[in-house]
Amino acid sequence: MQKSDYPSYSSSRRFALSSKRDLFFRQDGPTSITSSTSSSLSTTNTTSTSGMTNKETILNRERDGIKEKDKEKESSPSSKDMQGYVGFANLPNQVYRKAVKRGFDFTLMVVGESGLGKSTLINSMFLTDIYSNEYPGPALRVKKTVQVETTKVLLKENGVNLTLTVVDTPGFGDAVDNSDCWQPVTNYIENKYEEYLNAESRVHRGTIVDSRVHCCLYFIAPSGHGLKTLDIEFMKRLHDKVNIIPLIAKADTMTSEECALFKRTILNEITQNKIKIYEFPDCDDEEENKLQKPMKARVPFAVVGSNTLVEVNGKKVRGRKYPWGIAEVENLEHCDFIALRNMLIRTHMQDLKDVTNNVHYENYRCRKLAGVGADGKPGAIPNKNPLSQMEEEKKEHDFKMKKMEKEMEQVFEMKVKEKMNKLKDSESDLQRRHEQMNKSLEQQRQELEEKRRTFEKEKMAFESANGNDTFHRMSMDANSKETIARRTKTSSLMNLSQSVSARCRPM
Ligand code: GDP
Repeated sequence: MQKSDYPSYSSSRRFALSSKRDLFFRQDGPTSITSSTSSSLSTTNTTSTSGMTNKETILNRERDGIKEKDKEKESSPSSKDMQGYVGFANLPNQVYRKAVKRGFDFTLMVVGESGLGKSTLINSMFLTDIYSNEYPGPALRVKKTVQVETTKVLLKENGVNLTLTVVDTPGFGDAVDNSDCWQPVTNYIENKYEEYLNAESRVHRGTIVDSRVHCCLYFIAPSGHGLKTLDIEFMKRLHDKVNIIPLIAKADTMTSEECALFKRTILNEITQNKIKIYEFPDCDDEEENKLQKPMKARVPFAVVGSNTLVEVNGKKVRGRKYPWGIAEVENLEHCDFIALRNMLIRTHMQDLKDVTNNVHYENYRCRKLAGVGADGKPGAIPNKNPLSQMEEEKKEHDFKMKKMEKEMEQVFEMKVKEKMNKLKDSESDLQRRHEQMNKSLEQQRQELEEKRRTFEKEKMAFESANGNDTFHRMSMDANSKETIARRTKTSSLMNLSQSVSARCRPM
């Protein structure tokens, strides 16, 4: 960013930064906030010069030059310099006015476990009570799983409007099992890219509201032992999607030696794990570079946040009061808060937006247009010629058909197996019943045989007891009805016994 592009950042205005914002409002819910913001942004003027002839352009340029000369008296050259003055030197002013009129937007994401001081730091950073008792930080409102919550505020400073969206991720890292807790964050970031891409691809593109995440402040717990697995995993997954700036939270809980050692450990781990955090670039101004160098060396920024004002040497400052002294938020000897705020807001906000647009969003666009998802797998939009696309679809279709065929075969085989099993079962059941029947018939046959033998015995005994006479008489009575009936019974018994023995013979 050229210093001259944004005179609001001139040295005289730097002091004004620390003053309380002259206007601040907050919306209650994300939806109403969004709508109010979009209406304020829709007032942006877009002027098109397409279709102008060269002559018209030159005339316009001259006319503009004269107008600008009237308007910008203090910036216009003296009458002596007017010879050869065309007016395009005034272009930065035009850009400036247009940009100021349109306003600026910036989306800041804060990620870290609950209680690390995210809400407090945001309040300290923008000198406003974005979160207050009536509207506490997300960690105090939202619990359970990881969620993404946005708060939109309009900040004004010396006539420059900044629509700030703070994206918080309450619940991050708070669960016992934190696997995949970066997923809602990734989804949020990618959804915003998707929205922007869709807005860009529309036939009628109005003013596109840029709600992409421009910076992610990642809060590291002041353990002093280095990064946790979750910290590494989060940064690894997100470093090619968003500008990550690591922060050491609650730096007042460490001594300066501990803090310096902790910073070195963190930087080593970041390098070892090939994590690309946001690198503050050098600017064109040598003087500014000199000033910025020690600030850059403070990464990862060890910050202290506070919502209360304490008195130090008769001056009210933001700080944390302890029995042994005061940790001042805006004191570079106490913490890196000022370095972070200067780098983030005063000197590198535009670069963060540029890197988001030119690197992270471009990566997303390439992945999307190449039909590759964020995870490296094929995505929804292919970017191939129609023939090869058709060929691939045919192959895919064939593959699907083959798969279906295989599945159907498997189902068929399964059904055949089931049927075979059922048949086997019924066969063994039949066999069992057949054997049972055989047994019972054999039993019957044996009983009948027994009866027959008893009868034979009785008959023999009877005959021997009654002699031939009786026998004769009996034979005389043979024709009597009783005898005939007995005979019939005996013969039927004999027949039955024969038939049973015939059936019981092995087949
Ligand atoms: P969040 O859940 O990450 O948003 O954390 P909060 O901002 O709600 O802060 C949680 C608690 O930590 C509050 O009691 C704050 O006063 C306290 N706190 C915030 N910042 C700091 C800090 O820099 N140092 C210390 N010691 N405490 C802090």
